[in-house]
Amino acid sequence: MSELWSKEDELAILDMIDKWAEQELRPIAQEHDHNDIYPADLVEQMKELGLFGATIGQDWGGMGLPASIYAKIVIKVASVWMAPGGIFNSHLIQASAIERCGTEEQKARFLPRMAIGELRGGIALTEPNAGTDLQAIRTTAVRDGDDYIINGSKTWITNSINGNSLAVLVKTDLNAVPAHKGTSMFIVETKDADGNFLPGITVSKLTKLGYRAIDTAEVTFENVRVPAANLIGGEEGKGFVQAVGGLELGRINVAARGAGIARGATELAARYAQERQTFGKPICQHQAIQLKLGEMATKVEAARLLIEQAAAKYDAHERCDMEAGMAKYFASEAGVFCANEAMRIFGGYSYSVEYDIERFYRDAMLMCIGEGTNEMQRIIIAKQLIERNPV
Ligand SMILES: Cc1cc2nc3c(=O)[nH]c(=O)nc-3n(C[C@H](O)[C@H](O)[C@H](O)COP(=O)(O)OP(=O)(O)OC[C@H]3O[C@@H](n4cnc5c(N)ncnc54)[C@H](O)[C@@H]3O)c2cc1C
Repeated sequence: MSELWSKEDELAILDMIDKWAEQELRPIAQEHDHNDIYPADLVEQMKELGLFGATIGQDWGGMGLPASIYAKIVIKVASVWMAPGGIFNSHLIQASAIERCGTEEQKARFLPRMAIGELRGGIALTEPNAGTDLQAIRTTAVRDGDDYIINGSKTWITNSINGNSLAVLVKTDLNAVPAHKGTSMFIVETKDADGNFLPGITVSKLTKLGYRAIDTAEVTFENVRVPAANLIGGEEGKGFVQAVGGLELGRINVAARGAGIARGATELAARYAQERQTFGKPICQHQAIQLKLGEMATKVEAARLLIEQAAAKYDAHERCDMEAGMAKYFASEAGVFCANEAMRIFGGYSYSVEYDIERFYRDAMLMCIGEGTNEMQRIIIAKQLIERNPV
């Protein structure tokens, strides 16, 4: 895929994203974040930029970007305002599940509409009682003629209010051993042509510390009918594998969001440290501040390099669960570290809602939780380390 994109193409895309982020995201970020207002205008701009089809193959009307270029786009967006990236990031995780695991009929039916943003979605795995332990989900889908009937509750589902489709992980066999063999994934078009939720679907918006302005909700399914033709891959029992199989790209994406937050916070701090004076000189001339900036800048670069390494392996179709895990773990922690240090550099003004840095501070922690918590990342890395170094 990546050979379709020359260095000039890459630079042109990144330049376009750079201008868009500075001109359209930066000016509205604080107001939308503080008031938790969905940035509907940005959705239209994302359609024009092709972002809803960024990683969808060109055969299906997408741009077919390699992970390496996609990650750079995500870093740039998150370095200005992380939240709107979720509108296309979660959507593309759903698209990737269909592209990787769907039948040819499902790819033809859904991907072209997803690539242009007509169908916009996300992925519904987590339940009130099951996040890390996905095999413990309780939402069920029971076959009824040509349909399945879904019952259950999902929580923390991004894009579930403003989007119109979800990939939903369910149990089709509650007694399967091991439990993951009883899981399946469905594409659920959640709204009718008028934009109303299908009978039986209710959503309840969650109020969040950060990642605001983007809809994250609890979604309840009560006897919701879904065509059997929407069972991803056409076969029951594959849901868990389909969900975790996409996590490498998902982890590179979350790593890029963490790296973007780290970069954005460091840039804000570097600028502020030159403007703010104490004891007759800019604070960037005090060694205590230089030590912070030096460490922050180093983490930003290290995060970027780990992401590049993971993305290059992913694009070369090599196994990269360890590399993607390292990138996700390190870059998300770098986001938290740099936002935290930037807060100290801003001193009392870090607490003012007039400065962007408090938003970076509130947004950063999410990257340590999503796409597999950082506790789980270290366990995955350690298991891989042992597997790759047998005695
Ligand atoms: C803003 C936001 C948006 C989200 N968007 C989505 C979305 O679009 N779709 C979706 O499906 N989900 C989404 N999530 C949910 C997210 O993926 C889960 O919160 C995450 O997977 C963790 O699950 P949990 O919250 O149930 O934590 P738990 O699984 O209860 O974990 C709690 C703690 O225990 C640790 N832990 C658990 N098991 C182990 C173990 N075996 N070994 C060591 N430590 C362990 C965890 O690392 C964590 O520290 C979102 C969450 C948030 C906050």
